[in-house]
Amino acid sequence: MVQPGDTAGRIAGRFGVPEEALYEANPFLKQGTVIVAGLQLQLPLPQNPLAKPNSADITKRIVQASHDYGYPDLCYQIARLQRLYPFIWCENIGRSVSGRAIHALRIGQGDKAVQINASFHANEWITSLLAMRFIEDVARSLSLGEKLLIRSEGEELDIQALSRQVTLWIVPMVNPDGVELVQGGVGKTHPRYAELKRLNRGSEDFSEWKANINGVDLNDQFPAHWEEEVSRRGHDGPGPRDYPGLAPLGEPEARTLYEFTKEKQFATVLALHTQGEEIYWNYRGYEPAAAEDLAGKLAAASGYKAVKLEGSDAGFKDWFIQEFGRPGFTVEAGLGVNPLPIAQFDKIYANIQQLLLAAVKL
Ligand SMILES: [Zn+2]
Repeated sequence: MVQPGDTAGRIAGRFGVPEEALYEANPFLKQGTVIVAGLQLQLPLPQNPLAKPNSADITKRIVQASHDYGYPDLCYQIARLQRLYPFIWCENIGRSVSGRAIHALRIGQGDKAVQINASFHANEWITSLLAMRFIEDVARSLSLGEKLLIRSEGEELDIQALSRQVTLWIVPMVNPDGVELVQGGVGKTHPRYAELKRLNRGSEDFSEWKANINGVDLNDQFPAHWEEEVSRRGHDGPGPRDYPGLAPLGEPEARTLYEFTKEKQFATVLALHTQGEEIYWNYRGYEPAAAEDLAGKLAAASGYKAVKLEGSDAGFKDWFIQEFGRPGFTVEAGLGVNPLPIAQFDKIYANIQQLLLAAVKL
């Protein structure tokens, strides 16, 4: 079933089939033609991709970095991961403005809960793929009884032992409507076409859009000196970035993360953003004494720089640190101009995998 914003290239990438084979299986489909959402296509697959796995399947990757990574890809991959690794639990923890489910994936059953979230910002969607690849790596190692090496510490991490100590929660796409907007734009038939184009200063190119679909920056929505963030931003209304909204937690995506985080009582949280190869670890002195040291470990693992940040409020990690006095980190993955190109994925993931392994172990 074609999803909004789909192109033949994206569909082919999602299902791991050659684009040419997709045209052959659907002769009415021609390269460059618009594909209407809701249309059923025939997939040129030798077998049902959701069929029961055998152990050989585990060595193949489900989370592939072949194309721009959107919400339909995410939903499809969650289903495939769960089929292959039935111990991955998936919960819908809330809904976006446009009604898309916000997923949280759980793996492990330890007392210590760790949260990794991604794509708070729309044009940082490559972080969703980073988070998904990480849960696939952890699931695969758990399944095969393999250890994963943290190079900076020279330590082989026993994932099965770790899964008895830690419960890892991954929220892979906090802002699915925004991601969809960045990748697919808005067609003239979109009910908010005129409004969104105006908020985007007349442009139909949404690649610089960070906010949710209401034009509110979800990482400026948290009750941590929010009023100061409002006056600092000096923003007069919704737009592609930096507008904190009319009230903290006014947007459903921010409210969802807030409720979820309060409920699960996390020991540590990590929010994945792009870009800069930096790790932000402090907030107005509310952070625990060990935070700087912990950030140093994450920096050593990833090759990123631990940075003490001032002059920023109302972010998710700011609120987490202030509310719970526990370590929270914002990680700026990769280097370049957002949205970072998919071609950089493997290079970025190599560092982020090390960082996340070190964080889960902290
Ligand atoms: Zn960001």
